Amino acid sequence: MVSVLLDNIGELVTNDARSGDGSPLGLLRDAALVMEGDRVAWVGERRSAPAADALVDASGAAVIPGFVDSHAHLVFAGDRADEFAARMEGRPYSAGGIQTTVAATRASSDEMLAANVARLVAEMHRQGTTTVEIKSGYGLTVADEARSVAIAAQFTDETTYLGAHVVAPEYADDPAAYVDLVTGPMLEAVRPFARWIDVFCERGAFDADQARAILAAGAAAGLQARIHANQLGHGPGIGIACEVGAAAADHCTFAGADDLDNLAQAGVVATLLPGVEFSTRSPYPDARAMLAAGVTVALATDCNPGSCYTSSMPLCVALAVREMRMSPAEALWSATAGGAQALRRDDVGALSVGRRADFAVLAAPSYLHLAYRPGVPLIGAVYRGGQHIA
Ligand SMILES: [Zn+2]
Repeated sequence: MVSVLLDNIGELVTNDARSGDGSPLGLLRDAALVMEGDRVAWVGERRSAPAADALVDASGAAVIPGFVDSHAHLVFAGDRADEFAARMEGRPYSAGGIQTTVAATRASSDEMLAANVARLVAEMHRQGTTTVEIKSGYGLTVADEARSVAIAAQFTDETTYLGAHVVAPEYADDPAAYVDLVTGPMLEAVRPFARWIDVFCERGAFDADQARAILAAGAAAGLQARIHANQLGHGPGIGIACEVGAAAADHCTFAGADDLDNLAQAGVVATLLPGVEFSTRSPYPDARAMLAAGVTVALATDCNPGSCYTSSMPLCVALAVREMRMSPAEALWSATAGGAQALRRDDVGALSVGRRADFAVLAAPSYLHLAYRPGVPLIGAVYRGGQHIA
């Protein structure tokens, strides 16, 4: 197997607390990393680096684990730029929302949908993301959900069935029949391609009993649970995530003290999506309260054409620091190791021996610059599985 020495790393974030400075980021100065095949084979101070077949010079830059974006809705057609502009001008906009994208997605060919996912995934790679979760949820028919998850599976192992995004327009008068479809024929059709099942548990979407039924049907079909919880108001979503042992409760914008204790005790990751609050001009979740309660926090983009059309994890890190008062170290950890925990992955999100060689070389001497220099393209080179991808 060919080995490559990445030498002359000014600051290496390993996310391995046993390495370097002993902090959760496991920071090493004047470091080097050796990859063999798609894995990390050695990490340490550069003066003790072993010989390798090939050399890459990081020129003193910082190197971080690739971002793990654990929440994204990438299978869709069209955009909703006009709706965004109307929202920013304070004008009311049609309640069409998700349904606008559903109509465009249904009218799109498989090739067009796949090309749009490819474009967004490439955009993510250029911004340092090396693992992305991709949800369905804009098809809402058996055939359209099945092809959405199948297309997602062309790009990631982290595929999520979100037939329970909203009630399909055809079932507006009979939501119970739509839940039967989601937990029956639709689930059967997506099963070969889906790892996860998700439900939007919110007033106007799916209530507690419906969410429980949907996640239980998913579990019976071998799909693990994650959930859109407590985004628009206080509600049962976080409680259900803890009750069913979901990997993550996502949004958590409106979380009470009980919810936080519940998350901490159940070991459910709270995935915060600050791009949504930024793009909808809404209050941010209380990340400090979560961290104080011992909750594991992940950061993700929620990239979607409605509430947040950013694919940028560096932006989410900057927002988490500036708007949610996370430290730069906490935000980076949450955007990498936190995302890996939200996906129950132990092979990504950190740079220690045996992990996948997924990392970004920054055009900066320290990871601090990700929050300190918001909006600046600081991702220099990106490697995934030891391959230079961006
Ligand atoms: Zn979402």
